[in-house]
Amino acid sequence: MSAPHNVVIIGSGPAGLTAALYTARANLSPLLVEGVEAGGQLMMTTAVENFPGFPGGIMGPDLMANMRKQAEEFGAKTVTGNVASVDLKTRPFTITTDDGAIQARTLIVATGASAKLLGIPSERKLMGHGVSTCATCDGFFFRGKPIAVVGGGDSALEEATFLTRFASHVTLIHRRNTLRASKVMQDRAFANPKISFEWDSEVAEVRDSGQGAVTSVLLRNLKTGLEKDLPIEGLFVAIGHTPNTALFKGQLEMDENGYLITLGGSKTNIPGVFACGDVQDHVYRQAITAAGSGCMAAIDAERFLESHGH
Ligand code: NAP
Repeated sequence: MSAPHNVVIIGSGPAGLTAALYTARANLSPLLVEGVEAGGQLMMTTAVENFPGFPGGIMGPDLMANMRKQAEEFGAKTVTGNVASVDLKTRPFTITTDDGAIQARTLIVATGASAKLLGIPSERKLMGHGVSTCATCDGFFFRGKPIAVVGGGDSALEEATFLTRFASHVTLIHRRNTLRASKVMQDRAFANPKISFEWDSEVAEVRDSGQGAVTSVLLRNLKTGLEKDLPIEGLFVAIGHTPNTALFKGQLEMDENGYLITLGGSKTNIPGVFACGDVQDHVYRQAITAAGSGCMAAIDAERFLESHGH
């Protein structure tokens, strides 16, 4: 096995790439391991208008390409490979990928969270073209337009309520006839004249892939089997997120939903292992907050290495 790396970062979204930039500029020669969802959730978006520094906006994939280039300019190296397991019991830590084992004096976990999707082909095709998983990111594009939100939890109701600032009307589509969301969220949504509900319903298809834009959704009533077309121009899927933490079960402390617990900045329960971005944040979930926490993890890793004589 080759010599241990000072810093290994798993994940290449805004958190991982910012951690790479900072640790590279600190002369720590970080190694970034990126998996199948390289670039993270921003690779699934189109225009990003709320990342400071880009008046007029920037396309999500371009923003990620810029972050990567900037980190590489300072010497960050990237390997592509699915991480099969990590052993955090002893330092240096061992990260096993399909191509072999990597050793790390410090590890920065930036594996993110994946938005749950409905899993229908038309949803995938129109992602970033009218289908979104982030109201804060994309709501602005739907000024004066009819849209729908799928889900019955706090996220769906929060997004539906937020989206009424922009949309002409918001239809909430839920697979049951009772909501999972907290009472306060429900009351707020029920009182909002711009929100209506389609109960016991699922989205059978997002139309129209042929036009490359959302024009309607085909709704199927799960009790009656009846189908109907609901004309909308945007569909927000808000059925939850899954933090990508399966690799760390039994080693890193997690909350009841599987998000890593960080304390005092980016520190996990294992000294020398740091976490940043959506893998430890189910509240803010923004590219800029992920990038900020990536910076924190880099500084924490740098200080850890200093105090442990590298
Ligand atoms: P969640 O509570 O797990 O709710 C997911 C919703 O999506 C449920 O209503 C579920 O339906 C529905 N759903 C799941 N899979 C589906 C599928 N394949 N097709 C159609 N519908 C599907 O997730 P969340 O709303 O993202 O919330 C996650 C956690 O964060 C919760 O603890 C929540 O309280 C918290 N949160 C809090 C706030 C806040 O307080 N401001 C805001 C957002 C989130 P069923 O109900 O039928 O299962």
